[in-house]
Amino acid sequence: MKFVDVVLPFAGRAFYTYGVPEDMEIAPGQIVHVPFRRKEEIGLVVKQNKKLDCDIKKIKNIIAKTEYQFSQNFLEYLGRVSRFTMSDFGAVIRAALPPKEVLIAKTEKALYMPADFQGRLTPQRQKIQNAFLGKTESLTMAQILKRTGLSRAVIQSFIAAGGLDEVESIDGDLEEKPPFEFSDFAYLTDAQKTAAEIIKQNIQTKPVVLNGVTGSGKTEVYFKLAKEAIESGKQVLILLPEISLTVQFLNRFEMRFGRQPSIWHSHVTAATKRKIWKQIDSGQEQIVIGTRSALFLPFKNLGLVVVDEEHDGSYKQEDQFLYHARDMAVMRCAMENAGIILASATPSFETLANIEEDRYAEVRLTERVKKAVMPAIELVDLKENKPEKINDKKGWISPVLIDSLIQTFENKRQALLFLNRRGYAPLMICGRCGHRVKCPNCDVYMVYHQGQKEWLKCHHCDYQRTPPKKCEQCEDEDSFTLCGPGIERLAEEAMTRFPNQRVLVLSSENTQTSKQLEDALHKIENSEVDLIIGTQILAKGHHFPGLAVVGIVDADMSLMGADFRAGEKTLQLLEQTAGRAGRVGEKGTVFVQTHAPDHPVMQALQRGDKEGFVQQELSARKLLKMPPYGMLIALILSGKDERTLRAFCEDMARRAPQDNDIKIFGPADATIRFLRGKYRKRFLIQAPRSMAGHQFVRTWLSHIKTPSTIQIKIDVNPYTFM
Ligand code: ADP
Ligand code: ZN
Repeated sequence: MKFVDVVLPFAGRAFYTYGVPEDMEIAPGQIVHVPFRRKEEIGLVVKQNKKLDCDIKKIKNIIAKTEYQFSQNFLEYLGRVSRFTMSDFGAVIRAALPPKEVLIAKTEKALYMPADFQGRLTPQRQKIQNAFLGKTESLTMAQILKRTGLSRAVIQSFIAAGGLDEVESIDGDLEEKPPFEFSDFAYLTDAQKTAAEIIKQNIQTKPVVLNGVTGSGKTEVYFKLAKEAIESGKQVLILLPEISLTVQFLNRFEMRFGRQPSIWHSHVTAATKRKIWKQIDSGQEQIVIGTRSALFLPFKNLGLVVVDEEHDGSYKQEDQFLYHARDMAVMRCAMENAGIILASATPSFETLANIEEDRYAEVRLTERVKKAVMPAIELVDLKENKPEKINDKKGWISPVLIDSLIQTFENKRQALLFLNRRGYAPLMICGRCGHRVKCPNCDVYMVYHQGQKEWLKCHHCDYQRTPPKKCEQCEDEDSFTLCGPGIERLAEEAMTRFPNQRVLVLSSENTQTSKQLEDALHKIENSEVDLIIGTQILAKGHHFPGLAVVGIVDADMSLMGADFRAGEKTLQLLEQTAGRAGRVGEKGTVFVQTHAPDHPVMQALQRGDKEGFVQQELSARKLLKMPPYGMLIALILSGKDERTLRAFCEDMARRAPQDNDIKIFGPADATIRFLRGKYRKRFLIQAPRSMAGHQFVRTWLSHIKTPSTIQIKIDVNPYTFM
């Protein structure tokens, strides 16, 4: 009897040992059906188990093989991802295993006929064969189940043993993809052609950074290289941040490739997921465009990965298992000998350090195609340029910006106001006693929204309620005032100031479906709106030809908080937003409203001296041994009872190992001390840039027994510090 160790997607770190039935061949990487706690589950075979250290009698057998097997390489990769991110192997493989639909629908839709079976016929197997007696047509799994009254597991094991042949499938999964019809890319500018050449010369040996200003034609460059990879028979993956996957982008793809790519993100339908997963697994599809989770598709012959907007924060997955898709993409390509391109107008500091240290190559595109020039940047000091009241209501748009908007509308051009805050007002406060309305589940203020009716919403746990009529603390009636602007309030101000202009408000809330976003983008392109007011959703990727002026209403927002990347993130966000302006024709202007015009980021923006700022920041980080020159690992502990949590954290701190190169900060209350009904504390571990920090944390946690009432989340390379 042979035994194998299997990981289950929900079972954390543990490996489970199963027996391999006599007539089954199993290699590591095989995806199998196994019995687990009276249910049938899907698992991944990770290795043979030669020195059995558990009770043989308790070991159950594998029920059946699926038709899917991960390559040795991919299996090894998943293991590395788990070690690097310090996540449970189970959580990592959950991202990679075929979606349930692939397996279930497969057996439901396949048609079977009895095979010429020479093995031992148990009474049950006899029964299965009998179900076909006198019938010449093939049967589905559902029909066999019904006719035999046997369990699915028994039938599947008979299929796996070769008792039934799958004769055909009643769905169209295995339809051929339409052929590509490539553009010849002859229209590329000399700069673009040279960039493509340099990338090709370097990509065999290291990742290449395509560093080019917004609108410099980066997309066309990597499209050309994707085409070449496809032509040489390889598979290509293009990763985009969550919100750049628009029809606009896909249409452009279709123009260059002659057909649509497969699209993968968390909201595609089960049927589509099933189809794409199988087509990637079988090598029928050569190109996928997707968000970070596409990285875990079972490519068989990966030739090129593009990470577009590589600096984007949405590549860091913050729930389930925590990973940075850019870094994990680099790892995957290294293991599969695939090329990788990281494209951005504002590369992350991690990437800049990798260029500086020669681990990555860099190619630059310094000019916009179509002669469009970069916009001018005007800092607006809000202390000198105070927004004025209008109709007795507080305003947020400064007089200089208003003048420029009026001018823009007169010239029949478009303007955009950017404010990264959803809702009407971020805070409701009692004018008499100062009480602020908080979420009952989280230690955060509730955001005031207006729509058909007014309501309060927690942007962390989604708890909603109607606004209180009187203060819950001092019981004063009608004493509440609204503090600060959200985009709804900004839109109200704009509509009052510019009653004759057509205003469009865009946020993740009114663009829930891609259709809604599409319609909005369409209106903008067709000049059916004059003023666009939006959140982050507008900051990247999109191309608005008529846009002449961009106003960044509150540039200080991302500068606040205890995040050491605040400067870097602000610079990226402002650059990206600014990049929307004047993409075609005349020079655009970007107004940056700030209370901190002397801040180094603001100064750098105004001088157009991004590089200077970046160099300064990088040296500071080097000095402090912060990322990218050091490694951070955060431990986030949470529990319902604050006292137990505190005591546990203090005990943990006492048991921390000693290491001269590694510093521990904390335990400290998390910025959001209470979230979704749980108290939270954090440790931050600062270590050299190697795996030393990982080892340190592993040793530390191995000495500690965590009670079931407390959860520990490990965040390697944290990007949020809440
Ligand atoms: P980036 O990805 O650097 O922001 P894009 O590739 O999106 O730049 O190009 C910006 C705009 O210029 C797009 O509308 C694109 O279609 C157009 N474009 C890019 N390269 C060329 C070219 N060689 N000739 C004409 N138009 C181009
Ligand atoms: Zn909440």
